[in-house]
Order: sequence, then structure tokens, then C-alpha cells
Amino acid sequence: MLKQSPNDFKQYQAITLKNGLRVLLIHNNETTKSAAALAVNAGHFNDPRDRQGLAHFLEHMLFLGTKNFPDGSEYQKFISQHGGNHNAWTGTEHTCFFFDISAAQFSDALERFSEFFIAPLLSDDFVVKERENIDAEFTLKLKDDIRRLYDVHKDTINPNHPFSQFSVGNLDTLADRKGVNISKEIQAFFQRYYCAQYMTLAIEGPQTLAELKALAELRFNGIKSTKSVLPKITQPLYLAKNKKIKIDVCPVKNDHQLIISFAMESIDKYYQDKPESILAYLLGHEGEGGILSLLKKHQWALGLTAGSGINGSNFKDFNISIALTDSGEEHIDEIIDIVFSYIGLLKNTEIAEYYYHEKQKICNLAFLYHETMRPLDSVSHLVINMQYYPEEDYIFGDYVMQGMSQDNISHLLEYLQVDNMRIMHVSQNNSFSKNSFWYQVPYHVSPIPSEKLMQWRAPNWQALIVKSYTKGLSLPQPNPYIIEDPIIYKNETVDPDYQKTTLLPEKIIDKNGLIAWYKKDQTFNVPKGYLYIGIDSPFVVASVANTAMTRLFVDLYTDTVVEENYDAELAGIHYHLYAHQGGVTVQLSGYSENQHLLLSKLLTRLQSHQVTEEHFILFKQQLIKHWENSNKSKSISQLFSTLSSVMQPNNPSSQALAQALAQVTFTQYQHFSQQLFLQVTLEVLIHGNWLIEHAKQMCETIEHAFHGKVNEKYAMQCPVTDIATLGTQLIPLDLPEHDHACVIYTAFAEKDEISVALAMMTSHILSPLFFQKMRTEKQYGYLVGVGFVPINSYPGIALYIQSPHCDAYKLAMAMDEFIDDSIAELDTINDDQWQHLQHGLASQLQEKDNNLRIKSQRFWGAICNKDQEFNKKSLLLQAVLSLSLEQIKVFVKEHLISASKPDRFILYSQSDLLEQAQKPDGKVITDIDAFIKSSPFKY
Ligand SMILES: [Zn+2]
Repeated sequence: MLKQSPNDFKQYQAITLKNGLRVLLIHNNETTKSAAALAVNAGHFNDPRDRQGLAHFLEHMLFLGTKNFPDGSEYQKFISQHGGNHNAWTGTEHTCFFFDISAAQFSDALERFSEFFIAPLLSDDFVVKERENIDAEFTLKLKDDIRRLYDVHKDTINPNHPFSQFSVGNLDTLADRKGVNISKEIQAFFQRYYCAQYMTLAIEGPQTLAELKALAELRFNGIKSTKSVLPKITQPLYLAKNKKIKIDVCPVKNDHQLIISFAMESIDKYYQDKPESILAYLLGHEGEGGILSLLKKHQWALGLTAGSGINGSNFKDFNISIALTDSGEEHIDEIIDIVFSYIGLLKNTEIAEYYYHEKQKICNLAFLYHETMRPLDSVSHLVINMQYYPEEDYIFGDYVMQGMSQDNISHLLEYLQVDNMRIMHVSQNNSFSKNSFWYQVPYHVSPIPSEKLMQWRAPNWQALIVKSYTKGLSLPQPNPYIIEDPIIYKNETVDPDYQKTTLLPEKIIDKNGLIAWYKKDQTFNVPKGYLYIGIDSPFVVASVANTAMTRLFVDLYTDTVVEENYDAELAGIHYHLYAHQGGVTVQLSGYSENQHLLLSKLLTRLQSHQVTEEHFILFKQQLIKHWENSNKSKSISQLFSTLSSVMQPNNPSSQALAQALAQVTFTQYQHFSQQLFLQVTLEVLIHGNWLIEHAKQMCETIEHAFHGKVNEKYAMQCPVTDIATLGTQLIPLDLPEHDHACVIYTAFAEKDEISVALAMMTSHILSPLFFQKMRTEKQYGYLVGVGFVPINSYPGIALYIQSPHCDAYKLAMAMDEFIDDSIAELDTINDDQWQHLQHGLASQLQEKDNNLRIKSQRFWGAICNKDQEFNKKSLLLQAVLSLSLEQIKVFVKEHLISASKPDRFILYSQSDLLEQAQKPDGKVITDIDAFIKSSPFKY
């Protein structure tokens, strides 16, 4: 029997098909969508040594035509036309494919999907093109620091362990050789590994279990069986020379990181008691006495995580990753001293059982009141669990903590010692002696000096503990926030006055500048709640410097409250402060019972926020660095963020923010933070497991905290730049050392439902065509798309391409040609197809709220959009269903094609190549600030 939470309303059944395929059937009454995920126990570790990237290449090729559906774009079109999503990934030891779709089309979609694994064509025509796409995917991530760290990691381990192999592949590793096309090898890989015994399948939908079972049998029985067993990895991940070393790595972004890594055995077999999670809990503890708290006191670190690191069937890295400050860079040895002092503490104290029990309670509650995921997320998660856990733990495996084993904890603790250690220091300030093979990352390896090893070796840690800077470490106290038996307020206990009301939040306070909405959850019955407080202040947008200081305030505030409230965070009560265009939002979530305690603490701190000058300087520099790093992001992200700052006058660019903040002194900031909340308006949403009296109490707390400062005359509205009648505006951007890229953004003049529906429907239709044309056929690049991009609720359509090889003017021209040609494409759509397209989009809009979080987000979104009736979504749905294809055609002809002189921006990367090419028509904006200042606004 599958262990399942009593609050999980879904029905599960695990079966094994005749061919040996393990299948999990999930009946979900509450959804209009169905979803499927299939995982195979083969990934890049299975690549032949001379064919690195083959598993990934096969993953791509499977989408490109099968025996009964030879058209390579058929699957994608089918899924997207019926309101679905699809994707796949290739990992180290697994590859996973998944999609969702309107429930009515599930069987037809499964027919297409299952053929990937039964009769893929893997045809030569597609091999050539898709190889280009793999290469584009590889080059796209060349500047990605996570990939780059992996590459150095691969360079510095046992070269005979498969982790050392290159996972993505490129034109070179996947080239045809000696006149033989690589498709033979793709075919052989498929034959060898895509067998039912190595696979798991999860399918979910409103269909009954019997129907799902019939579908699984009908569609997946054709997958071939095998009798052979997959080989185990026998090589160790590290050779002796790969340990006790320090690796200096040069990142693209100017960030500093220290990763202290301990090599362990695989921990998969410990999933029932999870000893490593106790070590991670203690080493990663952010409260008083923990490693991070002490590092912060010294101003050496900004953050710390413990326990992550690569893992697989014969290895696990237990990492302690520390985000360093500039000063931390100078004290690496002392930081490691502190870490070993703490490890020494762990090794020499009996680890109290209450840590385990706390963790156990947290896991238990998380399992009991796990928030329902949408079917797509649920199947893609469970299908991987099926690869790791026995049947009864398919769902429970991640949460099970069957009892504390001191032995297992001590056993894993043994690994945390110098002989298993590797240190990685990520910083541009180091010097480097070589480059990694695939990503050309500069790095340098040096042995850790033996006197250091001696110092860190047990039991010498006792000498460390007496050093002045290691003082103050201690194991955490019991956590007062952990609840055991949360109360869920049943609907009958709800005050009858409020029970009669509908399913929507209701205003419980509406007075001069304070509006509070309340809704008792009656759908999900979880002991949780979501509380939003939107605080608007004209002061925030009074100048760019003020906007910059608001963001700094958010960072400093968050940092100061983290340590005080870490216990609450661990116990599942979360808080988050973030800046929005006209102010800041405080959000609390998680278990509802003790949230009010945290709320009053947080609100008090908001207005009695004190920092030292050192602290201010540290975070100011950090934030400026973060903004300056934005020019390292990929081209397309930079173009889009320029677009938002041009369209939203209250949303300055990172550059402008960095410049403004650089001028701010400590005195100015102190003055600012005292004024920040003097003139505000408040909007509040209280949604979840609370009765009306709880909601009223919380409102009182909030009112009290802002007493005398709230007035509706401080209300904020967020302006949008009005580009009506301006025609095409060109915005060139210098992006040295980046791919070429171009975004064409067409803005709508109005924001009524019909305009929104037109924009959504048009991008819904164009999106798969664009992908097919620009990526699959023309090979411009890996990142291409058409999207519905609203800005402050005004709709807009963006077309974008990032290309490593094709200049931006050419991309702009290709996109304009695409729009021109789309008129002919629209003419080929028949009634039947139109119905499908329309219902596909409608079903996306109708998607139910799967859990309390999503529902709260929707309510809050509506409140922020001044949708007081909470009906904009249903009006939009009606508008979508009322559209005719003719309207789309007229819209494209009159407002999208370049001949119609649409009001739009073309944003593009500058480069020398552009000299010779044909510039798109339009006026070039040379000074963005001046343009924004001289443009009219609308609201
Ligand atoms: Zn890929």
C-alpha cells in the first residue's frame, strides 16, 4: 500500500505493466488537466566516453517525429493548442519527459508521447538541425556560473568517473565521424537504455483509476522489455590526489563564495532516517550560536547553506557554502577554523534527540498538510521518487523520518574531516593557472598546506576553540515555534455572518487609507494562512535615490530579522519583505497558529530598524555590486529589463539605481529609514485558517503599528509610459561579449478585457509557429519566443530571439517577415482548429487554484490590480471565448505588421556587424532617461 496523507484527496494506484514498466496512476477530481511524466534510469553518465552529450541529444531527438507522427513539430503544436505545456531534462543518471494538457485530449496526447519511447524516427534530417540546437544550448550557458563551477568540478575529479564527462554536448562531441552519421549511435543508445524495466511513469487527471490504467496499458505496453541489468558505477568520484586541495575559480559575476566540501558515500540508502539532514540542520542553523551568526558578527559572510552538493548512486558531496563579504575574502582560514570548531563541537557532544524530533515534526506536518501541486508538477516529482523509493514510499519517501539513529549520524559525521575535504574559493580576485576544458573557466588547484591540515584534524580542534574569533559557538536551543497538532477551523465554527458570504475575500476595514480584506479558507482545510500587507508611500518614488534606498532597506531589514526569527522560519512560518513599484510588501505565510506573534515582531522592527555604519556600508556595496552584475546577465534578460524601465517610470534601471545609491551616506540613509513609513496607505489581505476575530486582531496590530501615519491622500498609482502614435522606437544597447539579441515589443493603448484577450490569443497562436520557424527551421538560436507581456496591466506582445551568430538587425527583419507571413498562416486556420486554439487558451485561464498559496496569490494580484470584484479573470475568459479569428486577423494587419506603423519598441544589441546591415525603420532613442521624462504617462 502506498502511504498517503489523510488530507490528500487524490487516489493513487501503483501497477506494473506486462512489459515491466512501473506505473503510478493518480486520480484527481479537482483538476481539468491531465499530466504524464516518464523517467528513465539513464542519463549523461551513460554516454560513451567518445560521445559526450549523447543522452541529451537523444532526449531532444525523441521530440522530432515518430512512426505514426512523423512531423517533427506535431507534438509541440498538439500540446500547446490544447492548453498544455511540455518539457524534458537530462540529468546524471536519469532523463525525464513530461507534459500536461486539457483532460479531454489526454488519450490523444499520450498516443503521441508514448511513441517517443516505442517508435522514434531519429531521422537524419533532424540530426543535423538538432545538433545545432544542442550547440546553441551549450553556448547559451557558457557564461552561466553554475555550469562553470560544474566544469571545474569535472576537471578536478577521477577522470574515470562518469561525472567527469561533459553532459550537454556540442557540434564537436556530436559530429559525424569517418563518414558515419551519428544517428546510428543515437539509435544504439535508445535500444540499450530505453527499456520498460529502467523506466517509471506517472499519470494524473480527472479520469478514474480504471480509465488511467486502461490508458497506461493501451499506450505504454509497446515499450520493449529487457532482461539485462544496468551496470553499477564502480569508480570512486575522487582519487586521493583530488582531495585535501583548494581550488580557486574565476566566476563571471563579481561574487565571492567559499565552498567547503566533504566527500561521502551515497546517502540514498539512509532515506528512512535521513541522518544527513540533522547535520545540515545544525551546521546550517542561522540562529544565535550558529556558524553563520558568528561569521556575520565578524562581517565575513552574508549567507550560508549546509548539506547541498552533488549526489549520485555512489557518491555525495556534503557542502558548506558561504557567501563571502570582501572582508571574508581576507579571512578564509579563520572561517574554516570556525567551521571545524563547530564540527568539533558536534563530534564531542551527544546530539540531543530533540533536534531529530523537531525535524520529524516538521516533516510530518509538511507531509500531512502538503499543499497540492498542479498535476504537471506532481507527476514530474513522483516519477523521480519512483526511481528511488520502494512502492509504499513513492509519496512519503521525502518526508519519512522513522527514528533517530545516533550510529548513522556519527557515521556520516566521520566524513566531515580533512582527509575528505576540498575547498573551492570562487572569486575574481584570485590568480589562476589553467582553464577548464569545455567552459574555459580560469582556475587554480593547490594542495592544502600540511600545517593547516594538522590544525583542522581532530582532536586539534580544541586548540581552535580557544581562539578569540571562534568564541560564541553553541548548539541551538529547543524551538518554541514548532507546533504538533495544529487546529483547523472547520467551516461550522465560522461566524454565521461571514459564512453566508461567497467564495471571495471581503472588506472588513475600509477607512482613510487602510483597507483590509479577509477570507477564511473553506477549500483546502490546511492549518496555514497567507497575510499580505502592501505599504505604499510617495516617499519611495520621490527620487531614484529613494527607490534605491528602499531596496537597500529591504536587504538590511531582512538581514537583521533573520537571526531573531530563524526558529519561526524553521517551524514553517515564513516571512518576506519585498519592494514593489510604489512601496514595500510584507508577506507572511505558513502555519497560521503563531503567525500573529511573528507579525507584531516584524512590524515593530520595520519602524525601529537600526543598523551600524559598517553594516550599512557592507550592504550598500553588496547591492551596488548586485546591480552592476546585471550587465553579466544574458542578452535577452538585459533587453527585457530595459524594456520594463522604459515602460515604468517608477522602475529605474539597475545602472541608475547603482549610481544613485553610490552617493548615499549613512546619515542620509538613517534619515530616510525614519521617514519611510511616516506617510503611507495600507492594503491588507488575510486569507487562510483564521476566524474573523483572529483577522480583526491582526488588523489591530497593523493599525497600531502605523498609528497616525495612514491617510488616503498618500495613495500611489503606478504610471506607464504612453507611446501611442509614436510609431517604432529603436533602443540599441551595448552588450559587449554577449550574444546578439532583439526584442520587438508592441504596446496596446487600452487595457480593457478585449485588448487583453486579443494580445493573449495572438501570442497563443503565434507562439508555436514562431518557435518552429525561428528555432527549428532557421536555427537563429536557442532562446526564441513570442509572449504575452503585460506592463502595469496594459497588455503587450513581445517577440524575441537571442542568437550567438546572427546580428540583431537581421533578427529584427526576420521577426517582421514572420509577422507579415503570419497573415497567410492565419488564413489556413479552419473552424475546427480555431475552436481548439480558443479552448486551449481558455482552459489555461480556467485552471483551478491547486492550493492555498496559489489562491492567495490570485486574490492578492486582483487586489493590487484594483479588481475589487475579483471578476477580471472571468471577464477575460468571456472575452477570449467571444473573439473571432477575423478579429485576430484584423488586429495583426492593423496593429502588428510593420507596414501598419505599430506603436512599439525594437530593443537590440549593438555590435560592429550592424554597420553593414539594414537598420529597421524607426526613431533611435539615444537618451533613455530623457525619453522617459519627455513622454506622457497613463495609469
Ligand atoms: Zn536540451
